Amino acid sequence: MAFLTEPEPRRGTALAVLPGVRRIVAANPGPMTYHGTNTYLIETPDGLILLDPGPDDDAHVAALLAASGGKLAMILLSHTHIDHIGALAALRAATGAPVAAYKTSPHPDFSPDIPLDDGDAVAGLTAVHTPGHAPDHLCFAFGAGILFSADHVMAWSTSVVSPPTGDMAAYFASLRRLLARDDRVYLPGHGPALSDPQPYVRDLLAHRIARENAIAAALAQGPADTHALMEALYSKLDPMLRRAAERNVLAHLLKLESEGRVLRDGSEWRAEHAAARA
Ligand SMILES: [Zn+2]
Repeated sequence: MAFLTEPEPRRGTALAVLPGVRRIVAANPGPMTYHGTNTYLIETPDGLILLDPGPDDDAHVAALLAASGGKLAMILLSHTHIDHIGALAALRAATGAPVAAYKTSPHPDFSPDIPLDDGDAVAGLTAVHTPGHAPDHLCFAFGAGILFSADHVMAWSTSVVSPPTGDMAAYFASLRRLLARDDRVYLPGHGPALSDPQPYVRDLLAHRIARENAIAAALAQGPADTHALMEALYSKLDPMLRRAAERNVLAHLLKLESEGRVLRDGSEWRAEHAAARA
């Protein structure tokens, strides 16, 4: 995979990304979040929209209120992971803006003011339901060829797909869904913008298919548990990312199981044909 990098962005400042779109990067850098969560401020005919409040961080909330003048027509959520909604309560209290998000959420304490379904339009943005990273994940199409791709497709890294809320089969389908579109630029939930995204999405899909085939090939050699498969397939990985890698391997295994290609046998997995022989 050819990933993009960017220098650490200036904190606390709204940076122009495209006409009518500004980005403020929260100070929550990490191995899963890159420099931090991107909060976008989007000028629409219905007023200023904020996409993804970001983490619970007073400085980030203050920067968002300063950049927006405290006036928001709506708060949009791409999904309800904590690095995207930690600041929601503070922003909602400060602005009174209604919150639009996918109609159902795995987050037990959350329900949107404006429940969205696939294809719904709000303030000139169109929701594209793209489960996989999260079941409630929405991308938002905007203007001429812009797609806010959130954590579904990011230029700096692959996405974490961690069961049970992460679903690899859904993720594959959501990548194919984007391949059927003709967006010109993606604005992700972490890291820099991605121009000409189609070849990149094709690479992401090919990368996952190769990983899936490697898992199936490893199991053709004999049964193994999820951890051993991760060890075999990600031998050079940074220890901090090994847990996420193991979750990804489990997500692949559950997809292969649903397709009848592997079987679960206690803590071990085995290839379907090997199971049939046993
Ligand atoms: Zn997320």
